[in-house]
Amino acid sequence: MAAVVDESIRALQDEGFKATRSRKQVIQVLEAADRPLTAYEIQRSLEQQGKHLNQVTVYRTLDLLCRLNLAHKLLSSGGFIKCSLCRSESCHRFAVCQCCGAVQEFADTGLCQHELEFARELGFHTRHHVSESTGLCARCHGRGEAAGPERRSD
Ligand SMILES: [Zn+2]
Ligand SMILES: [Zn+2]
Repeated sequence: MAAVVDESIRALQDEGFKATRSRKQVIQVLEAADRPLTAYEIQRSLEQQGKHLNQVTVYRTLDLLCRLNLAHKLLSSGGFIKCSLCRSESCHRFAVCQCCGAVQEFADTGLCQHELEFARELGFHTRHHVSESTGLCARCHGRGEAAGPERRSD
């Protein structure tokens, strides 16, 4: 876990940003989380560890991490997650489970290329696009099917 935090800190420095204490702290909270967190939840989690960051600092830090693709803001919940793709070149895409909240991240150059071509046919020059799917993760989907027959036998 610590190695991933170090990697994010190195990425920050590569982009010319200082690895300030508040930046490290926000990265650590995101890294430890197993689901998307709101800025308020990040602030509260730090407070529980005796670290006080004001709301503006948390927002600014999240904004910077998102700009550098080290973290992402999800459209469906507005929550923030740590990037899990090690700064992949193509767009980062998300599959969000509506049942347990788990987020899986993936990237595919072919999909990106398709989207760029569709937009180009409209005469549109894409700078950035986002992709987020909602549904059920493999575990929740499997659980749903397993629960079905059991309920019927009651
Ligand atoms: Zn990512
Ligand atoms: Zn799930």
